[in-house]
Amino acid sequence: MVNLDRLREMSYANVAFPIAVNRLFTYSVPEHLDAIVQPGMRVLASFHRDVQEGVVVERMDKTELSSDKIKNISECLDDSPTYSEELLELTKWMADYYLSSWGNALFCAVPAAVRNQKQKLVRLQPEYTAPIGKVQKKIVALLESEGELSPQQLARRLGVSNANLRPKITALQQKGVVDEIVSHKPKANAQFTNVAALTRPPADIETEITELKTGSDGYEKTTNKQKRRVPHAAAVKHAQILQILLDEGTPLAVPELTKRVKASPSLLRTLERRGFIKITREAAVRNPLSSQPVAPTQPYTLNPYQSEAYTEIVNGLQSENGSKQDFLLHGVTGSGKTEVYMQTISQILALGKSVIVLVPEISLTPQTTSRFIGRFGERVALLHSRLSDGERFDQWHRIQKCEADIVIGPRSAIFAPVKQLGLLIIDEEHSDSYKSDTAPRYHAREVAQKRTELAKCPLILGSATPSLESFYHAKNGTYKLLSLPSRIMDRKMPEVHIVDMRNELKKGNRTIFSEHLRNAITTRLEKREQTILFLNRRGHSSYVFCRTCGYVERCLNCSISLTFHFETKKLVCHHCGHKRDTHPSCPECNGSAIDYFGRKGFGTETVEQEVIKSYPMAKVKRFDADSTTRKNAHQHILESFQRQEIDILIGTQMVAKGLDFPNVSLVGVIVADTALNLPDFRASEQTFSLLTQVAGRSGRADTPGEVVIQTYMPDHYCISAVQNHDYISFYEKEVEERSTLQYPPYSHVATLLLRGEDEKGVIDAAHEIRNHLEILQTDRFSEVKILGPAPAPLSKIDGKFRWHFLFRSQNVKKISELLQLLDDDPPTVIKSNFIEYVIDIDPTNTL
Ligand code: ADP
Ligand code: ZN
Repeated sequence: MVNLDRLREMSYANVAFPIAVNRLFTYSVPEHLDAIVQPGMRVLASFHRDVQEGVVVERMDKTELSSDKIKNISECLDDSPTYSEELLELTKWMADYYLSSWGNALFCAVPAAVRNQKQKLVRLQPEYTAPIGKVQKKIVALLESEGELSPQQLARRLGVSNANLRPKITALQQKGVVDEIVSHKPKANAQFTNVAALTRPPADIETEITELKTGSDGYEKTTNKQKRRVPHAAAVKHAQILQILLDEGTPLAVPELTKRVKASPSLLRTLERRGFIKITREAAVRNPLSSQPVAPTQPYTLNPYQSEAYTEIVNGLQSENGSKQDFLLHGVTGSGKTEVYMQTISQILALGKSVIVLVPEISLTPQTTSRFIGRFGERVALLHSRLSDGERFDQWHRIQKCEADIVIGPRSAIFAPVKQLGLLIIDEEHSDSYKSDTAPRYHAREVAQKRTELAKCPLILGSATPSLESFYHAKNGTYKLLSLPSRIMDRKMPEVHIVDMRNELKKGNRTIFSEHLRNAITTRLEKREQTILFLNRRGHSSYVFCRTCGYVERCLNCSISLTFHFETKKLVCHHCGHKRDTHPSCPECNGSAIDYFGRKGFGTETVEQEVIKSYPMAKVKRFDADSTTRKNAHQHILESFQRQEIDILIGTQMVAKGLDFPNVSLVGVIVADTALNLPDFRASEQTFSLLTQVAGRSGRADTPGEVVIQTYMPDHYCISAVQNHDYISFYEKEVEERSTLQYPPYSHVATLLLRGEDEKGVIDAAHEIRNHLEILQTDRFSEVKILGPAPAPLSKIDGKFRWHFLFRSQNVKKISELLQLLDDDPPTVIKSNFIEYVIDIDPTNTL
């Protein structure tokens, strides 16, 4: 008995699965896996009558559960932990903070390309008799040469449909030739390539090269057994190949070599047979960086402001046992924040530590990334959404194997598996792209706080327009505030001109351009300087309305107005994607005065047409999500703008961020207030930051810049703060408003959104939840303020009605705890009325 117990020691594991319920499951670890399974490893275990993949989060030597109830872990999928201790702890924190399950948090921390996929595979039995049928024979031949294959792969190779293949596989199974297994393997895989390396000392190679070159129209060469003539052309190529390998001093991939000398791989095989090179198969890294050759750059001499910021950060690093310090680097656009980041990064790398730099996805342009690659070269790993699965797989493994120590990527790069994090940077920290819109709905800034706390390393948040929360923390001393108040080389901030569009209408100007903007564009075209025109909206005309009766075309699924797309001549809903044809006449009054070009309602396409009409000689390009759907379209447009092949670039948010074009001297904002009146407490903040960013695109080099902002609300404090480049005054006005209403940064907010197809069902559920919440809200939660239920501002999306609650408290934990109670035991009406509900802690919008 005692012995048995001893054997059982250390033989349990708690496993997290990617399921909604935040619970761990205990398994026993069989003897053959006992020395292998560690926390952070992915395993297979039977779960709900199926075999599921989960992550071991802890090993135990005891369990309360009775041993006959406990199942074994069936397989271990990792050789080394996929999740470090730090990432285990980070995801645990995330699950608690955002009310998600630990399993879901763990799965979201690894890119899909690295995750395992459940797949059926057909494999040969150890012993089998060859089948007779033609297709069956082919199947066996394929499996013999390639190993296990999925039924889909087999069908593709054989050129038959899946349905036609299925009976053949069944037949083979019955004859005991093959069986089908379920595998969990990564979606992408390491790629292998042939690599050629020299096998003799350089002196020998040099002699051979000379010999190869001096042979005139062919020469004789003795190999071990025979004498033969090598044709001259091949000799020259051979000499070239050897020379390249000699010059490079490292083995090279065969495809690269053959490309450089324009030779076939068989030439290399000849060299191998003759004993000069050896060709081996090696794992290749699909490197998305190598496609863009980048000139190395040297650090600039920092200006006094940069220098002060840099010194503050670096001094912080020297403090013993690296107590964590957070910095807010507030610098106007073009003030040299990136240079401060890069010089700080050098210091961290010198300490042998790694760095993660988060940038918004939208600014992961070749322009931004090449600045880092120019400075740090191969040490950079890049993670972004335009990578192929294979590329992402390779980048992730390069980071895990410490082959790269600088990671640049969007939100999800916060989970990059770097070993010794020495610094975390979030550029453009105010960007709402850092908030995940699927569960777990994390904000990278919050996760970064936690990760740097665990790694005991500094966090730098950088922005020209910090989020209200961050600036508030800087003012109250939680963050150290570093300021870069002026542009590099004392370049002037662009002059901002506000145009009241109501006056234009009074003057009889019915076009979308004010007189001032029109003249400004003309001047730029004459001077051959570039212009960016900005509109915060896609499509052609956002309101399609009848001028006679006021009828507005709306989406049948959503409550919002439809947008007219000129290229397809269709009305499109920007929430659910619903498309339909236009009405020839008004469905309400039958009149024919349907207006697709309403004064306030127009999009980038309208602007494009107006520009072409007004400036027929100008080269114009539209840059928005519609014109850049094709791969690389994004990059092509930017490159040709850089080469000054485009005079006027028209765009949405995409032109606002991170672009640095020295010849742009005019930025025109067509309508500033499109988003200012949205029913959301962050509307002003978001408008201010967007307008400031877009204004910052002007006059980045020696040409002084101008910005023209057209608006119907010229007196709004947000607009005047943009005009004066005055973040501080904006902050003070806005923070006052927030204080009155007790919105963040004075509190934390959370939303609970209910969605359902039956409106009454949703409303009933909402009221029942309110009652339920009142019962749950004991004294412990007295500081939590509950608002609602109310219809959400977007009251119907995708055919579903939306109602929501807003929660507010100084203490976010109290909100989470209350919502957790609700989540643990939701009222039955949720199920019976088919209601989906979404909990969002610290939401970035409440629409
Ligand atoms: P930000 O990130 O604050 O918008 P950047 O880092 O892009 O500013 O800097 C703007 C421009 O100034 C860039 O072209 C950058 O190379 C250049 N620059 C930055 N620091 C210096 C410096 N100390 N001396 C000269 N040029 C600099
Ligand atoms: Zn819709």
